[in-house]
Amino acid sequence: MYHHIKKLMYTVRVDEPDVRFGNMLLEQFGGANGELAAAMQYTIQGWSCDDDQRRDLLMDIGTEEISHLEVVGQLIRMHMKPMKKKLAAAEEEPLVALTGGGGLNLLNSMGNPWTANYLKISGELEVDLRNNIAAEARAKITYERLMHLTDDRGSKDALQFLMTREITHMKAFTAALDSLGLKPFSIGKLPPTPGVVDDYYNDSAHE
Ligand code: MN
Ligand code: MN
Repeated sequence: MYHHIKKLMYTVRVDEPDVRFGNMLLEQFGGANGELAAAMQYTIQGWSCDDDQRRDLLMDIGTEEISHLEVVGQLIRMHMKPMKKKLAAAEEEPLVALTGGGGLNLLNSMGNPWTANYLKISGELEVDLRNNIAAEARAKITYERLMHLTDDRGSKDALQFLMTREITHMKAFTAALDSLGLKPFSIGKLPPTPGVVDDYYNDSAHE
């Protein structure tokens, strides 16, 4: 069961709206490493998880990602606002202006629709947790790159908050993986073939 609280997780402020930057932020809204992908990946994993404690963690973080989606969405709306009235601003991102009226749609920064193909859901907890650690690393670096592309103080503050939370999630998923008490590199049930598993090839040698 879900409840919506009419309050943002982080209060958003945009000092100087920038349509082009708003469009880039769509990458974290409807993009491959964006907030909807994170929310869906962890939530669907959580619904399939038989372990109560790890399920709880997946649901907590999956739900927080929806709150991030809401924050990114508000940020995008504020940056996109000028395109509702100004032709020059609409011309910067005509797809968003014409199909969405300057509002939100589940697109990435190139206008491609969101797809469930972005999700990594394996049905095996230790594999999913590794997927999630990698997903958090990708989200973190995307926020960092976005922060380099704007001078807007309000936007930077919100992105700093979101970037920081992804590190918190990475720590939580790492702790969950460690808590499974598995031997290093133990994935699934079948052991690898002794000997073969310790072979390393120098397969990219100079002539
Ligand atoms: Mn997030
Ligand atoms: Mn996260």
